Amino acid sequence: MNDVPEIRRRILGDAPARSDGAFVLYWMTANRRTRWNFALEHAVAWCRRLGRPLVVLETLEGGRRWSSARRHRFVLEGMRDNARRLRDAPVLYYPYAAARGEQICKLLAALGRRACLVVCDDAPIHEQDIALEEACAGLPVRVEAVDSIGLMPMRAIERAYPSAYLMRRFLQRRLADHLPCAPKANPLARVRLPRAGPLPPSIVQRWRPANELLLQSVPSLSRRWMIDRSVEPVETPGGNTTAEAALRRFVRARLARYAESRNHPDDDATSGLAPYLHFGHISAHQTFDAVARHEGWSPDRLSDRVDGRREGWWGMSESAEAFLDQVVTWRELGVNYCIHRPDYADYDSLPDWARATLEKHARDRREHVYSLAQFEQAATHDPLWNAAQRQLVLEGRMHNYLRMLWGKKILEWSASPRDALATMIELNHKYALDGCDPNSYSGIFWVLGRYDRPFGPERPVIGKIRAMTSRNTARKVRVRAYLDRYGATDAVR
Ligand SMILES: Cc1cc2nc3c(=O)[nH]c(=O)nc-3n(C[C@H](O)[C@H](O)[C@H](O)COP(=O)(O)OP(=O)(O)OC[C@H]3O[C@@H](n4cnc5c(N)ncnc54)[C@H](O)[C@@H]3O)c2cc1C
Repeated sequence: MNDVPEIRRRILGDAPARSDGAFVLYWMTANRRTRWNFALEHAVAWCRRLGRPLVVLETLEGGRRWSSARRHRFVLEGMRDNARRLRDAPVLYYPYAAARGEQICKLLAALGRRACLVVCDDAPIHEQDIALEEACAGLPVRVEAVDSIGLMPMRAIERAYPSAYLMRRFLQRRLADHLPCAPKANPLARVRLPRAGPLPPSIVQRWRPANELLLQSVPSLSRRWMIDRSVEPVETPGGNTTAEAALRRFVRARLARYAESRNHPDDDATSGLAPYLHFGHISAHQTFDAVARHEGWSPDRLSDRVDGRREGWWGMSESAEAFLDQVVTWRELGVNYCIHRPDYADYDSLPDWARATLEKHARDRREHVYSLAQFEQAATHDPLWNAAQRQLVLEGRMHNYLRMLWGKKILEWSASPRDALATMIELNHKYALDGCDPNSYSGIFWVLGRYDRPFGPERPVIGKIRAMTSRNTARKVRVRAYLDRYGATDAVR
């Protein structure tokens, strides 16, 4: 029927598609974009096959543990962008922001009763929205979930890989088969579909779409939504259009110096794409395509080496390879873990050696012990740590190198490793725009030993876990401008 690979499709409700339904419903939650989106492409293919119109329902849910004005505004900006992009397309776009997940389930049921079938976004985790299986359980129609998360189909990997090296080795063996199957850049281009008529008033009056006015005046977030307003919106705007602009800027101006500069906070040389990738405002395929085009790359440059080594795999420049190692190997490693390990967020998922060494040192005297509130208020003795925490609270982001240091110090300065884990998860998810992502768990658990190996000499408190110090960080990477900017003027101890 279409080009979306079967391995990316999962049947959640196996009723046959109803050809007498009023429309095909695409429920958008993870791939919040109109381009490079396998799920949208699949829904369009069904519309063409059945000769029925397309309704795109994009939902945003409040009432979750880390629902905040910051995250809501970012997603609403994405919805505004989608509304603009779909204005002239043969699609009825229905953006809906709910105080709670139950409302979304009920709306889905009401639309599902009229639909030929429902296509939805498959995703590795559901921390900010209701799980697909739960939401679609009672739907009396066919339901298909489509994976448009990464270059490698999520479910084409049979086990959880414990290290980036092993994941890379697997990708070196298997990714080449999947690379040619990219989603269409614009699945709605030159597509003729019948127009959907207006939805029944009984639906739109009960579950009011986030209308033009609301989407335009995003700053005045509705009082109805159950969100934490103390976590304020940040300047970084959400949406596919801004994401694409950020990708173009990065490839043009920063990619060439990525390998050399990515670890230096003062250089601000990374892509800044994480929040867009997290909310599906941009696709991994489009990101890869932009880098490959910039490099004048073709698949015949891929090395046929299968040795897990980073360098020389893609046959691109050193910087492009370093970037792809993050956005492909590391990002998809996190997805892979979450798919195979339901305990991905639990302390006990740590490797045995890490738990053993942390346990051995659990009662060691800590030089400093801070509470969650002290960490949150950037009230530690360490100016560099405080600066990083301030950036997180103020801007919803933190430089990658400092993110590692930030986590390592929380481990050292917490009463126990379990407390450290809880603090990292709370602060990361509460403030970071890209929080609640598989990458969040990769990063946070890496601090505690996941994907890593034991390091000597054994130290108090952290045992054989890899150590990082602010002094070494300040020596190794450029942080002077960073410290000035985020208000920490005293010397790094
Ligand atoms: C304690 C800790 C917490 C973290 N929390 C998050 C989080 O909540 N969300 C998140 O997306 N990343 C998280 N990371 C990983 C990493 O810090 C961010 O992905 C990166 O800083 C995002 O900035 P960027 O988009 O400019 O990255 P770039 O360097 O431009 O990289 C491009 C993309 O590659 C992926 N990527 C980069 N570094 C990593 C990494 N180390 N692991 C996995 N994927 C990576 C991201 O999708 C990123 O957007 C965390 C790391 C640590 C140590």
